Amino acid sequence: MVSVAEAEKIILGHLFRPSLQKVELAHANGKILAEEIQADRDLPPFNRATMDGIAISFEGIENGLREFAIGGLQAAGQPQQSLTDKKKCFEIMTGAPLPNGTDLVVPYENLKIENKTAAILSEHVIKGQNVHLRGSDAKQNELLLNERMKLAPSEIALLASVGKSEVVVFNTPKAAVISTGDELVNVDQIPLSHQIRKSNSYALVSALHELGCDAETFHLADDEKELEEKLKSILAQFELIILSGGVSKGKFDFVPQVLESLGVTKLFHGVSQRPGKPMWFGVSPKNFVFALPGNPVSTFMCFHRYIKPWLSLSLNRSIKKQKAILAEDFTFAPQLTYFLQVKVENENGKLMAYPSAGGGSGDFANLKDVDGFLELPLGQSEFQKQDSFPLILFR
Ligand code: AMP
Ligand code: MG
Repeated sequence: MVSVAEAEKIILGHLFRPSLQKVELAHANGKILAEEIQADRDLPPFNRATMDGIAISFEGIENGLREFAIGGLQAAGQPQQSLTDKKKCFEIMTGAPLPNGTDLVVPYENLKIENKTAAILSEHVIKGQNVHLRGSDAKQNELLLNERMKLAPSEIALLASVGKSEVVVFNTPKAAVISTGDELVNVDQIPLSHQIRKSNSYALVSALHELGCDAETFHLADDEKELEEKLKSILAQFELIILSGGVSKGKFDFVPQVLESLGVTKLFHGVSQRPGKPMWFGVSPKNFVFALPGNPVSTFMCFHRYIKPWLSLSLNRSIKKQKAILAEDFTFAPQLTYFLQVKVENENGKLMAYPSAGGGSGDFANLKDVDGFLELPLGQSEFQKQDSFPLILFR
């Protein structure tokens, strides 16, 4: 059995080396960017009207003018025009370039237009008002997006605006999520009284998805032969393999021995932790295999404590380590690192962790009431309030 720190060190010592891929912009959401993105021109590229109204020169206002004869119309999509007579104005539409010689927009709401003359009704007219100045968001060649960031719809818009119809992203590992167990039935089935519905694969696939990684799911029976045959083919097709169940000491827990017989080198089996003590990790030239105990809280905790940082670091992304302050005294006697379920509150800038231990590693209904796990180290059994400990946030 290894300690939590040793397990982490072993896992993070075996990172996946992602290849690069060009994807169409429409398919880039959620992917990890593998290039730096610069502005191809100033943003915005011209002085842009942000209201519909009239464009005038502030000089006219300074000279006491409040009425301007309409000298033309500047619509969005039309090339920039010029205002030569400062006593006149251009009607202008949102998104149009400000005509040469103008420097502010008075919106229609503040105008009275009669006989092709616009009278300004508002008191305050300020130079530059309602104008989105060229280059005020970013200058040409300025860095807009850093490599390694996870693309969200906001970044997709930015990529579109600088002309990136394709972007280079890191390939996530080809991932398989496998549940095992003869007691498990599909979600859409009515279980018999001794059966339960599979839930781990759904949690794991969703958690992977949040990290930009797609996964296929499989279910394997507690049968050594079936495990061997199916795992063999899965190992040949997938790089990241996450199993749940079948790694403990039960008569039907064949997963570790089958993995080894298929050429996956065991790097550890058993971590001095609760939940998740029977966790198994191994590698082969092509595969990274995490075999997690099937109890849903164990599966969930092991994913967040080990697989999430492994995947983030593999994709060249940094991981955020944080701590929270234990808000109540807590006792845990076994010689194991304890991952205590906690509700986290931000109190005057301090993260306070309120214990809500739940009913053990099978009680995954408790997870809905908490935000993360507080990592209480091995070698201590009384944990005092006000002491701080590493926090694994999952919400
Ligand atoms: P195991 O690790 O196979 O001994 O399973 C431990 C407990 O977790 C058993 O009560 C299983 O029924 C349960 N379990 C295993 N896999 C799943 C799963 N995919 N979804 C929900 N519960 C599971
Ligand atoms: Mg089982």
